[in-house]
Amino acid sequence: MKELPKKNIAILGSTGSIGTQALEVIRAQPELFAVEILAAKSNADLLIRQAKEFNPNCVVIGDNDKYKIVADELQPAGIKVFSGEDSLSEVVQMETVDLVLAAIVGYAGLKSTLSAIEAGKQIALANKETLVVAGELVTKKAKEKGVNIYPVDSEHSAIFQCLAGEFHNKIEKIYLTASGGPFRGKTKNELEHVTREQALKHPNWEMGAKITIDSATLMNKGLEVIEAHWLFNVKPDMIDVIIHPQSIIHSMVQFEDGSIKAQMGLPDMKLPIHYAFGFPYRFKTEFPRFNFQKYPSLTFEQPDIKSFRSLGLAYDVLKTGGNSPCILNAANEIAVEAFLKNKIGFLRIPDLIEFCLNNVPFIQHPTYSDFVETDRETRRIAGENVIPGDPH
Ligand code: NDP
Ligand code: MG
Repeated sequence: MKELPKKNIAILGSTGSIGTQALEVIRAQPELFAVEILAAKSNADLLIRQAKEFNPNCVVIGDNDKYKIVADELQPAGIKVFSGEDSLSEVVQMETVDLVLAAIVGYAGLKSTLSAIEAGKQIALANKETLVVAGELVTKKAKEKGVNIYPVDSEHSAIFQCLAGEFHNKIEKIYLTASGGPFRGKTKNELEHVTREQALKHPNWEMGAKITIDSATLMNKGLEVIEAHWLFNVKPDMIDVIIHPQSIIHSMVQFEDGSIKAQMGLPDMKLPIHYAFGFPYRFKTEFPRFNFQKYPSLTFEQPDIKSFRSLGLAYDVLKTGGNSPCILNAANEIAVEAFLKNKIGFLRIPDLIEFCLNNVPFIQHPTYSDFVETDRETRRIAGENVIPGDPH
């Protein structure tokens, strides 16, 4: 392969699960990738260590109170230091940035991702909430600016890989695989008493706390249905969720001739991160290889949408459209946070989301400022309706 210019990458959310794995990918292939920006919210210690190792052009710390600590450490080394959300939206537009890894968790990732798209930066998208909240706006803007959105989410990376060479062929169905999370097979009654600690123990993946809880409720899969709709332009009824507890098949595409393509591999987020960074090339890696003897049976089940109501709610908001996915997302963020603080029980998560969907005003054609307002209003209503004292 001919020598390629290095890609300068902005890592937004560098101290998180995806961010740190992205840095492992870059560490292993310094001839291909370089770090241009590192950004985090409040983990100043790790951000400083990362900057000292990867020597980016600049770093952004979200929390203004941490600015001085970071600046004192990094400015003498010639690294520019900024703080706050507005700075982040500005630096992603720097000419020297080739690709932006959107790996901030939640709604907080929307603004900087939109700003990067506005400046024509290519996007490696982990932050699925960006497409859940404002999928139409984001994909329209990306098209207008000639921006490719490379999925990092393993399922969407799998679909993207299955579609290579198939762009003129119609998709008949997408099968999004889901591990089922730690509570697979539990009845609604049993779910009433599950704890935060149990919910945080995912069988196959190590991830940030928010997405781990989303995986336990199946909301993660619901968010991914919405993400797939926007990334691959497929109708909700063409997206099927299938429980596959081994997490080896990362998703599948069925074409009009009935043929199904699947993408497989060990559950390791470094693979989809690496693919998004390297696209259109596949570079050699030392990641552990799959061994068929260790997985004599790959199994599949239907999801239990009666016990795991969040998945159904996500399909509903996708069909309703407007600002309802934004309401669902904000309510879910508040509910998950409340569950993580032991303020509400596991089954109250979908209850709170449904309450917000019924009480936040619906807007059919929201603008960006409508999303900001919807997010704020939903957080207010959800916050008021977190009724403590019902943890388990
Ligand atoms: P983590 O909670 O592990 O990390 C979140 C990162 O975002 C941290 O670096 C955090 O900084 C930063 N951050 C949070 N809020 C802000 C803010 N307001 N401004 C700047 N930085 C902020 O999350 P994950 O890495 O697990 O997930 C990140 C995204 O990737 C999510 O959208 C998730 O759904 C998606 N994803 C994750 C997968 C995984 O395996 N983890 C798989 C597929 C998708 P700090 O550390 O300082 O708080
Ligand atoms: Mg996923």
